[in-house]
Amino acid sequence: MPQADSIDKIVRGYLGSLCRQSFAFYEQHFTPMPVVVSPLLLRGFTCPESCGGCCGKFTLDWLPHEYPSAKSIIRTINVNGADFRVFTDSQRDNSSRQCRHLHRQSGRCKIYAHRPFTCDFELIRVLRYPEKIVLTQKLYGRGWAMTRVTGEHGAACEMQPADAASIAEVERKLLRLNEWAEHFGVTTCLAAVIDWVRQGDHQHPLSIPV
Ligand code: SF4
Ligand code: SF4
Repeated sequence: MPQADSIDKIVRGYLGSLCRQSFAFYEQHFTPMPVVVSPLLLRGFTCPESCGGCCGKFTLDWLPHEYPSAKSIIRTINVNGADFRVFTDSQRDNSSRQCRHLHRQSGRCKIYAHRPFTCDFELIRVLRYPEKIVLTQKLYGRGWAMTRVTGEHGAACEMQPADAASIAEVERKLLRLNEWAEHFGVTTCLAAVIDWVRQGDHQHPLSIPV
């Protein structure tokens, strides 16, 4: 089975949903849609030891100025007809169903300080509806199907109410997504979202029209 490509998640899932100018990713075209940012985006979550349920075998991708793991190679990604370089560890040589960096006893990430953006961005969700995009944070929809390093089933994380620390984390993650948008030259509404996270009315959703 081919590895799930995390670049697809970044470009199609995140940038394709939050763009404010149309762009092309290879043959696929994305156009702006209204975005609603839920106050639930600002929540935090627990990630206890001995889980690792979400650390499956995906491609691991870094921007050129980030940590390129020893296994990573340069590949080019085409956006709007131009090629952009990223560092990728495809994990094709990893025979396990789990990420090569998952500690099999603790369930912790062995490269946590340098984990790829797509690992870091969880549990933020960009939900696509016919008429709008909703940006929020929530548990894995198929968390029950995940297998922990202990062999037990079910993601062990739980959502927690928003506080100053969780809001700072969300801001940091959105800034990291913005680096990917800028790297690929995709115009997004991330500046408005980050401004709302920093100083907005968190009692109500933020609506960003097209
Ligand atoms: S599934 Fe949840 S608790 Fe388990 S490693 Fe991932 S984020 Fe942590
Ligand atoms: S790099 Fe770390 S956080 Fe990402 S999937 Fe691998 S073990 Fe999990």
